[in-house]
Amino acid sequence: MREQYDVLVVGAGYAGAVAARALAEKGKKVLVLERRSHVAGNAYDCLDKAGVLIHQYGPHIFHTNNKKVFDWLSRFTKWRDYQHRVVADIPDGQGGRLRYPVPFNLTSLECSYGGYEGRHLGEKLMETYGAEKKVTILELRQNPDPEISDLADYVYEHVFVHYTMKQWGQTPEEIDPNTTARVPVFLSRDDRYFQDTYQGMPLEGYTPMFEKMLDHPGIKVELGTDALKRLKLSGEQILVDGEAFEGPVIYTGQADELFGFRFGPLPYRTLDFDFETLEQDDFQGYGTVNYTVDEPYTRITEFKHLTGQDLPGVTTIVREYSKAYSGAPGETPYYAIINPENNARYAKYQKEAGKFGNLYLLGRLAEYKYYNMDAIAARALELADSID
Ligand SMILES: Cc1cc2nc3c(=O)[nH]c(=O)nc-3n(C[C@H](O)[C@H](O)[C@H](O)COP(=O)(O)OP(=O)(O)OC[C@H]3O[C@@H](n4cnc5c(N)ncnc54)[C@H](O)[C@@H]3O)c2cc1C
Repeated sequence: MREQYDVLVVGAGYAGAVAARALAEKGKKVLVLERRSHVAGNAYDCLDKAGVLIHQYGPHIFHTNNKKVFDWLSRFTKWRDYQHRVVADIPDGQGGRLRYPVPFNLTSLECSYGGYEGRHLGEKLMETYGAEKKVTILELRQNPDPEISDLADYVYEHVFVHYTMKQWGQTPEEIDPNTTARVPVFLSRDDRYFQDTYQGMPLEGYTPMFEKMLDHPGIKVELGTDALKRLKLSGEQILVDGEAFEGPVIYTGQADELFGFRFGPLPYRTLDFDFETLEQDDFQGYGTVNYTVDEPYTRITEFKHLTGQDLPGVTTIVREYSKAYSGAPGETPYYAIINPENNARYAKYQKEAGKFGNLYLLGRLAEYKYYNMDAIAARALELADSID
């Protein structure tokens, strides 16, 4: 190991794969160990039994304003132009259902309040705050005009509070008293979920993009390999396969697991994915429908809308159920639960990691934070840049 490789990377998701490629291009010999049987981490996609391209760990839509990251990734894939649109699906109070765009915008206003009243309120909001502005529901609540402050309550109730409770198992206020302050109403007809400059899906999927990224003479990937069975932290040294390894070790797995949970496990939310294949062209007309008021699941995604796959007569959907992560075999930690107590626990692990001059914690698990794909790619490029 010591003679063959300059760098060890644990994990072949965005963090690990991007760092590995960037370091290999600097002339390093890189060994990547990945516990799963595939690359691409949580962005992994594959064909299901019906031949539908699915995202195994939940729908992933690439979006960024970072041209450098977009150009860098574009070396490994072409893109399908895709603008993600999400609708909320709620009971209409008369036994039927109502759908409107989220984030809540001028169209949502007309769908929920009716055309006449919705337009009137929309005009009032634009006069007050300006067209194309994102106004938070806290700002709306503080407005002395009761029509405007009532709208804040409507959006909070129908779009935000129940959805948040399903997702996090807590009220928004329990999570962070300032969360409500940030929920936006978009005074626009732009019903795209993201407004970023670059948006799309890798034309052939995420997995082929990662395979190309990792296809470099300086990189060796070992799949189905739990790095923690090969790594040992001893004193201030990292042993790999029993020998001291002095090169950089970029670790993208869970920080608590790396140190044997010695300060206690870091809490996460996990998701149960319920995939269903249906013999029809189209199930819901949208990539994602959020169930913001009722139903036990948070959202349903229909992959063909995201990927643009042309496959008549069949479609696959996934329902997402959120729950506390227990650490049981087969469960995946998805979302770090960021609060002062958990951050303090994470800081203890980070301090331990700091004792090893050649250990780098990178990515959503190792850094115990949420990263979008573009943000972790940017961070991985930055780290690789800083390593001589
Ligand atoms: C449901 C969901 C939807 C999302 N949708 C979007 C989206 O639409 N757009 C967006 O930009 N971002 C999205 N994200 C975020 C995106 O998934 C992350 O940005 C990305 O996965 C972070 O990459 P990573 O390398 O840090 O982590 P991961 O992708 O989790 O990769 C870490 C890898 O390390 C491996 N590993 C861990 N421990 C070990 C070990 N001991 N030995 C060997 N290997 C190990 C794991 O198996 C895994 O493959 C979403 C996240 C979730 C949960």
